[in-house]
Amino acid sequence: MKIPQHPTLIRRFLLARQKQLQAKSPVLAASLVTIRRTCGNPNCRCARGKKHLGHYLTWKLQAKTHTVYVPVELVPQAKQWTQEHRRLKQLVRELTQLSLALIQTHVTARRRRQARS
Ligand SMILES: [Zn+2]
Repeated sequence: MKIPQHPTLIRRFLLARQKQLQAKSPVLAASLVTIRRTCGNPNCRCARGKKHLGHYLTWKLQAKTHTVYVPVELVPQAKQWTQEHRRLKQLVRELTQLSLALIQTHVTARRRRQARS
């Protein structure tokens, strides 16, 4: 996103993103990962290298990584919910940049007015 210079344009950009800032599904702030692992049973196929494929959600909380197992039938939902979180996070990032730009242009405009008078 290129941040516009003019306050009117900045406000237009802000409004467009404010309208998109609504969750279209549940929101999940985690990463969906696929892990190959052994189950510990020495007679299982995984002990001979054919490891089990599992889907997990991982997230960090106070510098600690948490993991939760996702049953295969819930993987599409988990994927969509984490994508929705990424979309909203990106929107908030852009809204922040635009809000800051709006404050900065206000300061610049005031300085310019003071310089003239
Ligand atoms: Zn196994």
